[in-house]
Amino acid sequence: MIRHHPEEALLLDYASGAADEGLALIVATHLCFCPACHQTVIMAEAMGGALLDAAAPMRGDALALALARLDDAAPVAASVPSRDGTPSPLRSLLGGDLSGVRWRAMGPKLGFFNLFRRGQTRVRLLRGLPGADTGSHSHHGCEYTLVLQGGFTDETGSYGPGDFAVATPDVVHNPIADPGEPCINLAVTTAPLKFGALIPRIAARLFGF
Ligand SMILES: [Zn+2]
Repeated sequence: MIRHHPEEALLLDYASGAADEGLALIVATHLCFCPACHQTVIMAEAMGGALLDAAAPMRGDALALALARLDDAAPVAASVPSRDGTPSPLRSLLGGDLSGVRWRAMGPKLGFFNLFRRGQTRVRLLRGLPGADTGSHSHHGCEYTLVLQGGFTDETGSYGPGDFAVATPDVVHNPIADPGEPCINLAVTTAPLKFGALIPRIAARLFGF
């Protein structure tokens, strides 16, 4: 069961096309796990379309039209299945499944794979074996994390598949991968991370975090 969702403002940005590429990817991937947020986005899109229609020549039946369009909204689309359950937005970006990713090692238990970068925003996959510890850090910008497989725990709670975490610049945390299968996350950072200890600080610089 998904316990942590993107906030509504982010879902509305996504629905209106205002979210940038990295955030759009992480929200679209969350929607593959979460029928509730998917429904919110479908309703927001329908409402946005109806408002645009209604705004052109303002008609007395604009509200009725908007409501009718909501009734017509498509049911939650099933995500396209892959061999290992890789969500379809990631699958189209990777050109394959998560099980085929060539991880770049960052220590004995941590790996990463860069998906793309736009300005200061970096979009990556992160993989931690059970007990992997990313080191205590805070953020210059925001860090958005979506769990794809396994789970992790930090000072703000526990996160499993489909859960969405946001760390704002005031948050200092130290995520640790849960026991069981490896934890694989999709991570979007809007600025470099700030590590407290020296070794993680050097590693972060070397690996471009
Ligand atoms: Zn959700």
